[in-house]
Amino acid sequence: MVSRVIPVDAFDLVIFGGTGDLAKRKILPGLFRRFCDGQITTESRIIGAARADLTRENFQQLVSESIDEFSGISRVDEKLRKSFLEILSYVTVDAMGDSGWNDLKGLMREKAVRAFYFSVSPSLFGDLASRLKQFELTHSESRIVVEKPFGHDSKTAKALNAVLAEYFDESQIYRIDHYLGKETVQNLMAVRFGNMLFEPLWNSQYIDHIQITVAETVGVEGRGGYYDQSGAMRDMVQNHLMQLLCLIAMEPPARFEPDSVRDEKLKVIRALEPVDWHHVVRGQYGPTDTRPDYRTAVDNPRSTTESFVALKAHISNWRWAGTPFYLRTGKKLRAQSSEIAVVFKDTPHSIFDEDAGRHRNALIIRLQPNEGMTLDVTIKEPGPGGMRLMDVPLDMSFAETLGDNQVPDAYERLIMDVIRGNQTLFMRGDEVEAAWAWTDPIIYNWRARNDVPKPYDAGSAGPEDSLMLMHRDGRRWREIR
Ligand code: NAP
Repeated sequence: MVSRVIPVDAFDLVIFGGTGDLAKRKILPGLFRRFCDGQITTESRIIGAARADLTRENFQQLVSESIDEFSGISRVDEKLRKSFLEILSYVTVDAMGDSGWNDLKGLMREKAVRAFYFSVSPSLFGDLASRLKQFELTHSESRIVVEKPFGHDSKTAKALNAVLAEYFDESQIYRIDHYLGKETVQNLMAVRFGNMLFEPLWNSQYIDHIQITVAETVGVEGRGGYYDQSGAMRDMVQNHLMQLLCLIAMEPPARFEPDSVRDEKLKVIRALEPVDWHHVVRGQYGPTDTRPDYRTAVDNPRSTTESFVALKAHISNWRWAGTPFYLRTGKKLRAQSSEIAVVFKDTPHSIFDEDAGRHRNALIIRLQPNEGMTLDVTIKEPGPGGMRLMDVPLDMSFAETLGDNQVPDAYERLIMDVIRGNQTLFMRGDEVEAAWAWTDPIIYNWRARNDVPKPYDAGSAGPEDSLMLMHRDGRRWREIR
């Protein structure tokens, strides 16, 4: 089954930080895939911008290599590669300097949509925004795309929002959370709001609890300096896990439109109760035979930054009162696995003998690996052994359903949304601030209590205490595998 690809209108896209890691690994290979699918036409222009003194040919070479390394296309069509490289240009420009900006302006067309991707350190966002205005590079159809981290806490996020608001209207600002671009995450909305089956049961009367796990096998991998200032709470919970929680918990928006959806997400964040510190577990990974522990990896022997967080959250509203949300994320865990599990309550009464067993329905939404969904349904164990119950999964894998290579990477989809001017899958400024307002007290409390993260074995499911967080409530985490 191949979905129809509609080409977007011709655009000019400037990637500030076009030579950086994110551009090479995600943005440029993603754009190439959209080009191969015919969604981007040869009338569009993609302009790399950074301080390095590169020629256009140098940049084309860099992009060509990143296509080979990161596009995931096993046999690149050379004709397509050549015509993609033709739409690329490069300018040398310093976000903090005044040279190069007029060259950039010379490359841009009056009529086309203009998108400026800020794939640089957030400390440069203000400089970039002000220079775009100073050198008159923007018009009414201009948009900026900003990367995470969006602030370090409420105060810095507010300050960043204020700086951007000096130069751009909120409708022009696209704050990326790439989790929102994942196929499964959007499918979550399709499943919830496109079926009659789930929504009537989607509340605390029928749902026992919800668990959200984002488990990584990697450690800090060369990002130690940044990560040690940030930790799992800021790097993962405040943005990605909160966004997933919002989509699971929000009320049906009136329409699938940017502000309808974002208004509902914001209501969820505002309805989150402050987290009791007994309901938060932090961890830090230990060494393996071949790899160093967290503190060695970040070169900070006394670091008290967490590489793991598990917590229990409550949403104070009619729909969710009494249904806990358990969130967990960490590095160097047993497997690379991200999923949301919606665990339903037991049936109110069992008509079967006790030894038939009792099972619960669960809807598992897999973000990775193998994006898809599973619904655990209780059936009778086959055979003549009497009435015994068992769970069987009704399984849907997107890769199998859609065929290989049909699940676009999150970045590809999000960049196309920027060009189309659709902000539904981007975070609004007030959402980001509200998310920080909820996580700030948790982080401040750790600092006030001189809290030290619990050690956990690399390759495990995190610290023992995180298992206890569930066990105390008579529940258990799903296995990380
Ligand atoms: P990076 O590899 O350090 O690249 C930074 C880029 O910015 C380079 O192209 C650099 O080129 C350019 N740059 C630096 N200073 C500049 C200046 N004053 N003016 C113009 N260009 C400048 O960083 P990255 O990993 O790509 O990350 C970029 C952004 O994405 C950051 O905000 C990061 O937090 C975010 N992000 C990255 C990832 C990831 O996987 N890498 C994931 C999520 C979010 P020159 O030195 O030649 O100027």
